[in-house]
Amino acid sequence: MMRWIDVLIYARYSNPEPCKRVEKTEEAWQRQLTPDQYHVMRQKGTERAYRNAYCRAYDPGLYACAGCGSILFSSAEKYHAISGWPSFTQPISKSAVKYAFDDSHQMQRIEALCNVCDCHLGHVFNDGPAPGGLRYCINSASLSKLDSPV
Ligand SMILES: [Zn+2]
Repeated sequence: MMRWIDVLIYARYSNPEPCKRVEKTEEAWQRQLTPDQYHVMRQKGTERAYRNAYCRAYDPGLYACAGCGSILFSSAEKYHAISGWPSFTQPISKSAVKYAFDDSHQMQRIEALCNVCDCHLGHVFNDGPAPGGLRYCINSASLSKLDSPV
């Protein structure tokens, strides 16, 4: 289980080794992604609260990276955080998500990225539910839901 100390250590020192790497030029990303996805995933944008696809989705399934298809989260770890974005308490595995310090917007936050393709996902906070205490606040635009049962 990931805890806040693990997130800080990964962001500060080095992230877990991904199972594979996907690297593309910005031109290729721009061709592949919708404008909204490109803004969020490659320009570290934030979609509007509540007006996004998976904010209120709780049916079973897995959530993949919209950029490379890597599985990132499960509906089993999704919970209602009243934040306006899909929120998860844990990633699907320790190596699924990459962490980085983000000092933009006069805030000190930890950015969550896809560990395979480096697309921006959202941020991680330490105000999630027990036992892990984490809240992965993720943009719907960065996710693609697979409707297979968990
Ligand atoms: Zn990815």
